[in-house]
Amino acid sequence: MNNIFESRESEVRSYCRVFPAVFKTAQGAEIFDDSGKRYIDFFAGAGTLNYGHNNPLIKPRILEYIQHNGIIHGLDLHTTAKQAFLETFDNIILRPRHMDYKIQFPGPTGTNAVEAAMKLARKYTGRNGIVAFTNGYHGMTAGALAATGNAYHRQVSGGLLNGVSFAPYDGYFGPDVDTISYLRKLIEDDSSGLDKPAAVLLETVQGEGGVNVASTQWLVAIESLCREHGILLIVDDIQAGCGRTGTFFSFKPSGISPDIITLSKSIGAYGLPMSLVLMKPELDCWEPGEHNGTFRGNNLAFVAANEAIRIYWSDNTLSLAVQHKSHLLKRYLRKLCDQYPGTGLSVRGRGLFVGLASDQFPQVARRVSAEAFRHGLILETCGARDHVIKFLPPLIIEETMLDEGLNIFAESVRAVMQQITNTPAGGLPDSLTQEVHP
Ligand code: PMP
Repeated sequence: MNNIFESRESEVRSYCRVFPAVFKTAQGAEIFDDSGKRYIDFFAGAGTLNYGHNNPLIKPRILEYIQHNGIIHGLDLHTTAKQAFLETFDNIILRPRHMDYKIQFPGPTGTNAVEAAMKLARKYTGRNGIVAFTNGYHGMTAGALAATGNAYHRQVSGGLLNGVSFAPYDGYFGPDVDTISYLRKLIEDDSSGLDKPAAVLLETVQGEGGVNVASTQWLVAIESLCREHGILLIVDDIQAGCGRTGTFFSFKPSGISPDIITLSKSIGAYGLPMSLVLMKPELDCWEPGEHNGTFRGNNLAFVAANEAIRIYWSDNTLSLAVQHKSHLLKRYLRKLCDQYPGTGLSVRGRGLFVGLASDQFPQVARRVSAEAFRHGLILETCGARDHVIKFLPPLIIEETMLDEGLNIFAESVRAVMQQITNTPAGGLPDSLTQEVHP
């Protein structure tokens, strides 16, 4: 394809290689390309469109705000839009959950929120080290990238990734190894070589790392370890938060109380960039402008977020709907796995944050994603070997559309599995074993 994207856009482009269409319009869980072809979107901007594309309940507020010449760009100036957002977030999200946090608006990307969180932990404790986890993903800027496990992303950093030590995530060595005891030993042994860290940084469900779910027991044990040793606990809820796992904050069911929380992706509600760092009030040791940025006040995002929180989080209707659809999705996928015994397919995840792992034939995931795309379904792959197919439909997806997407998915799995079984000795044809990085 010789086009302006190929001739002018940098080779760094990635998703567009996997989903090669020119997209034009979108609504809810559907997205259309410039030829009018319809796709069901189980990708949802990597978890940014929890309320769907162009949500019709949020859109009128945005249009009205623009129509009335509302402030669009405001650095960190006080604006009525920001005021309304903060009040709504306080009244509907924080107070009912008995959560007392100060709110920082860093630059609008997730990685900027993680940078700010790491800086704050270092400043507050006066210590340098951060403990992050195997297969974790926290962003691409130097600080956050230092806490990201993936070698493909780390290798271009010129060796400048400092100040982070990695510990094994829950289940890293399989279900029988207690990875907390390992970390506890490192922290408590003065000769382990691990200096006492400022913070432990984790995702409750690792998104890019393969939809790996930390158990409640593991999260509670990490929190105790942190408390015992005066180490701050940072939960990166950028992908798992904003209702993705069924509760607004992914860690809420575990009962833990992180010192710092990062939010991004769906907090802007309409696909609008915005991110937040929540910190326990006593940690707020920033001096004015110490973590600065031009785009810390996306007022359109404040308007959208305010509306989404009022509509979707004033009661538990959305939460219950996510849990119900999660049940339907997992049940469907488990039945699908049962149809392919011996192929090592398995289902994992929480809420509408679900993965289908193909451990035995990692290339199957990419192949199924490509096949599904041809038939009008968008699904991302993730995991260290790209061996997990990730299901992130908008939370508001109708059950009929969820089902329609799943049927396309099942057909795509069937087509790819047929290729495997038609290959001598049950191996993969060459075309399936070639790795293409996005
Ligand atoms: N943390 C997590 C858990 C993420 O999933 C991501 C994005 N995939 C980031 C941080 C980085 O966010 P951004 O791409 O907006 O910088």
